[in-house]
Amino acid sequence: MTMRLPNFEYVAPATVDEAARLLSDPGRSSLIVGGGTDLFPKMKRRQAAPTTLVSLSGVDEMRGVRFDSAGNCVIGASTLLADLAVSHQVPPVMAIAAASIASPQIRNTATVGGNLCLDTRCNYIDMPETWREASGHCLKDGGEVCWVAPRGNRCWAINSSDLAPVAVALEGSVRLTSVHGERLIPVEDLYHDDGIACHTKSSEEILVELLLPTGGTRAAYRKLRRRGSIDFPLLGVAASARFDEAGTCVSARMVIGAVAPAPVRATEAEEFLIGRQFTDEVIGEAAGIASGPVRPQDNTDTGSRYRKWMVPVLVGRALSDLVADDG
Ligand SMILES: Cc1cc2nc3c(=O)[nH]c(=O)nc-3n(C[C@H](O)[C@H](O)[C@H](O)COP(=O)(O)OP(=O)(O)OC[C@H]3O[C@@H](n4cnc5c(N)ncnc54)[C@H](O)[C@@H]3O)c2cc1C
Ligand code: SF4
Repeated sequence: MTMRLPNFEYVAPATVDEAARLLSDPGRSSLIVGGGTDLFPKMKRRQAAPTTLVSLSGVDEMRGVRFDSAGNCVIGASTLLADLAVSHQVPPVMAIAAASIASPQIRNTATVGGNLCLDTRCNYIDMPETWREASGHCLKDGGEVCWVAPRGNRCWAINSSDLAPVAVALEGSVRLTSVHGERLIPVEDLYHDDGIACHTKSSEEILVELLLPTGGTRAAYRKLRRRGSIDFPLLGVAASARFDEAGTCVSARMVIGAVAPAPVRATEAEEFLIGRQFTDEVIGEAAGIASGPVRPQDNTDTGSRYRKWMVPVLVGRALSDLVADDG
């Protein structure tokens, strides 16, 4: 079946301020577009119907990587994933995560901002309009029932961004701008555990840049997907830790992606790791603790039991990567 885009107005401002003004125009129902690799398919499926797309592709100030005076690595939101994947300026784990996203063609168009602001995904909502009409619209689609958990009253669509768990593990923050001003928030606070209202930012706010602290942190990312050449994560585990000279962990973050509407911090496992050396036994125990509260739903490729079963496996691999990364 050929799915066509609906009609829309396309505007390409040259500055962040101009983009913010356009997004605040009450006469338009606007959405931001980065590379459009997620938004255009959604529009074809009639999951989004903006009258105007505000493209950020002409905003030069939002592209590239720099370092600020506090030593943060600052990644412009319009930086392409293809450039991030080969960058020697960004933390290596960010480049690894970027290189694992989609395919080379998509990475040549897709942006960092679009990845961090990706809408949640679910087998039911990501169907053509005719299919959704025939089977009945779900909660996220304006209906009254969630087909994944019909006895509940919430949406379990999944945050499938590969960069989000890594940015949370690295204790990153994002700068958001609108006509109402600017704010800097931890990446962790960008997400809601709700498949419908999955971001805490308003639709007028532009994610301008991602700031990542640098120095002294080891980090790793492990991703489970069906085809290594293109697919979304079925599970993603980002881990970061700092160690003292004796090799004892002094701080740790473990973040599990693609199992819930927001990246999930495994805080109990993080606390368990502090004060310990990462022996095989400690890694095994931490992996078990981390997977305990994770409850994947049956709304993406492969069954939820398989994804649950793989959580401790990937956590164990990510923690072992931290031991191997002793530089
Ligand atoms: C076949 C296929 C495979 C894919 N595989 C993966 C994968 O493995 N991992 C993965 O993470 N993703 C995957 N994706 C999804 C998508 O391609 C990427 O997440 C990509 O990074 C999205 O970036 P974009 O610039 O194209 O976003 P867009 O499609 O332009 O936008 C996505 C959303 O973000 C909003 N947005 C964009 N930029 C900003 C900004 N600066 N500020 C505020 N809001 C903004 C848009 O309004 C929209 O809601 C895949 C997509 C396809 C089609
Ligand atoms: S989790 Fe439920 S409400 Fe959310 S998109 Fe899927 S079927 Fe719809």
